[in-house]
Amino acid sequence: MSFSSQSFSPEIVRALTECGYEKLTPIQQQAIPHARRGQDILANAQTGTGKTAAFSLPIIQQICDNPKQRNRFNVRALILAPTRELAAQIAKNIEDYTKYVSLNVAAIYGGTKMSSQEKKLEQGLDILVATPGRLLEHMELNNVSLANLEFLVFDEADRMLDMGFISDIRMIMSDIRTQPQTMLFSATFSSQMNKLSNELLRKPKRISVSPENATAETVAHVVYPVDEDRKRELLSELIGKKNWKQVLVFVNYKETANELVKELKLDGIKAVLCHGDKAQSARRRALDEFKEGKARVMVATEVAARGLDIQGLPHVVNYDMPFLAEDYVHRIGRTGRAGQEGHAVSFVSREEELTLLQVEKLIKQRIRRIQLAGYEPANRDALLQKMHTKSAFKDRSGRTNNPTDQSDAERRARLRRAVLNKSKITKLKK
Ligand code: AMP
Repeated sequence: MSFSSQSFSPEIVRALTECGYEKLTPIQQQAIPHARRGQDILANAQTGTGKTAAFSLPIIQQICDNPKQRNRFNVRALILAPTRELAAQIAKNIEDYTKYVSLNVAAIYGGTKMSSQEKKLEQGLDILVATPGRLLEHMELNNVSLANLEFLVFDEADRMLDMGFISDIRMIMSDIRTQPQTMLFSATFSSQMNKLSNELLRKPKRISVSPENATAETVAHVVYPVDEDRKRELLSELIGKKNWKQVLVFVNYKETANELVKELKLDGIKAVLCHGDKAQSARRRALDEFKEGKARVMVATEVAARGLDIQGLPHVVNYDMPFLAEDYVHRIGRTGRAGQEGHAVSFVSREEELTLLQVEKLIKQRIRRIQLAGYEPANRDALLQKMHTKSAFKDRSGRTNNPTDQSDAERRARLRRAVLNKSKITKLKK
């Protein structure tokens, strides 16, 4: 199905052709016709499926079809995203799609000056992409008005909930007096998400492009069982031996990220850092270097790297397994995008075997183990045998992420669960 068959204007089709878009992706095929008719949308779509165009193109076309004079501080369409990087990326995509039409878009997020954002808001915007926290700050200063809002999008809504943005979202919603067309995109669904979507959406068209909690079919998953203290060596060895050119490495803690980048550099591997403690400009620079191939490795924490679109990224490494299985799906969503091949490599220490089981259950796939000579973990078999006999572990749940990228409440809950899990594992080892 081509974009011109969706009656997008020739200027938009031309811009899309320049982006290399010829045919609609499945999520676009499902969402665009309904969104063009003004329906609310509830979409289960993982990253890399083309969801940004799925929600933004119908908005762009509707704004072009119905141009209005821009009023100071006024916004016609609001797109909420959980992270700075994702917000910047969505705005960049929209700029690309609107190259040949007269429409303005801006992204506002924390970590950059309020004053420069205020200037953008003052002129009035057709489309505003924002993280909830920074948007609220501007709303409190009357720098932005949602009084005439026509379109509202929640992108990666599950992550916004995970990051504790629920009260910010409710505060933003309380300022919206119109009934905007609303679209909610999420990679995973929970009871809290269902509750939120019931509150936000009116008779939404439900769409789903892949089974819940699935990873892209073009991704090959492998696991390297390895002791924690050998992971660093294993990473350098794999990068060197297999000649990996572009690797996104996920770790759970910013300290691990700092340490790992130093060590990789000592091994002569150019690596950059992306975590929540880094200034926005430094994160942007790191991402650019990584995208341009100036750095071979980017070491990132979960939240910082959320939603990043790196064209044709071939390798994602879970240096640490995520604490929650669902996050595996999010991380791996960085590779195998738009039908390209991807490799998801996980380093699994004894303590992480339980998470691995959960991941396999979630993605309904057994992941191939590769035992690399010289890196065999000590006593793994004994642990595995015990683990499979302990039913208590099979339904282990909990959510933990990089503590520095999370709210205090989330961090406390994470630590509580980590302590609990640790004591379970310690018991298991006895
Ligand atoms: P997204 O899920 O929106 O982050 O998109 C993932 C990647 O697919 C991005 O690099 C998009 O530019 C690309 N993409 C989106 N729609 C299409 C399309 N119809 N044809 C080709 N590439 C696309």
